[in-house]
Amino acid sequence: MATAAFTLSLDCEGKWGMADQPAVVNAGIIGDASLREAYALIARTLRANRIKATCAFVSAFGAGEEALRAIDDELKLLASHAPRWFPHILSAIEGGRVDGWFGDSFYRTLRDDGHEMAWHGATHLSLADQTPGRAVELELQLAGRLFNALGHTPKTIVFPRNLPGHLEALRGAGFNTYRARLPAAFGSRATGLLNEWNMWDGCVQPLPRIQDGWHVAPAGLFLNWPSGARALVPVSVTVRRWKALLRSAVNQGGYVHMWFHPHNLITAPVMQVAFQLIMKEVGDLIRSGDILSLTMSEANDHFVPGIEGSMS
Ligand SMILES: [Zn+2]
Repeated sequence: MATAAFTLSLDCEGKWGMADQPAVVNAGIIGDASLREAYALIARTLRANRIKATCAFVSAFGAGEEALRAIDDELKLLASHAPRWFPHILSAIEGGRVDGWFGDSFYRTLRDDGHEMAWHGATHLSLADQTPGRAVELELQLAGRLFNALGHTPKTIVFPRNLPGHLEALRGAGFNTYRARLPAAFGSRATGLLNEWNMWDGCVQPLPRIQDGWHVAPAGLFLNWPSGARALVPVSVTVRRWKALLRSAVNQGGYVHMWFHPHNLITAPVMQVAFQLIMKEVGDLIRSGDILSLTMSEANDHFVPGIEGSMS
């Protein structure tokens, strides 16, 4: 039986993930100061519990303002191919209203702490198959320039909007691992909410697998974001659920994959409590040797033996 493993993947994007929602972008709740607190809490909590995460950054967010301004022309060219995604980004950057758009200091902290630095798109433009190939090409070109600025070329993708697509082009561009798309039920509020109360749905969590030449990490489970109807779920229920998931993984040599966006901690502060308590539980299981903390790419190597040999 394999040793059980836990993965945390974080969709790190600041305002880039909500570029088409001007009300959220302009609300003033998510900005440099609140993001700094959220990322600091995450970094501190992971350090204290010796947990290594996969931090999937939107490259433009991770590389920072100077790096993005240096490739302004390429950004505008891409914007002309995806006119619905970019108007708020371009006007914010041109107008110097950059609060919440750049997270290079968070990127550096997490990288220096040894986390896996993964890709969440160059600009968070959807990479689903509906997006034209030319836009994806330009997105990859932009990414290449930003990876140079960052000094790191990632191999792991968390797709923007959780919508995998253009897999052949992306495999050709050097990526080899991605997080699977969420099951359709995730979109259903009632089902999602009911699952928060279900102690047993996690007993058989899927394992990483190989598919079409890719290492595919399971979609993972979203740490409850207690906002709106989800605020009805008390922290104690969320924590109990995750403890049950972890315990069942330990008993079966299984896998638990948690994901969320760092900015979720801002808009629902009570989630900070749940996050810290669950990470403490993971930390205890790591210390007792019951569970391994693995990044997405490490989890694939752990659960799919001989994975490299099967990639040819
Ligand atoms: Zn995102």
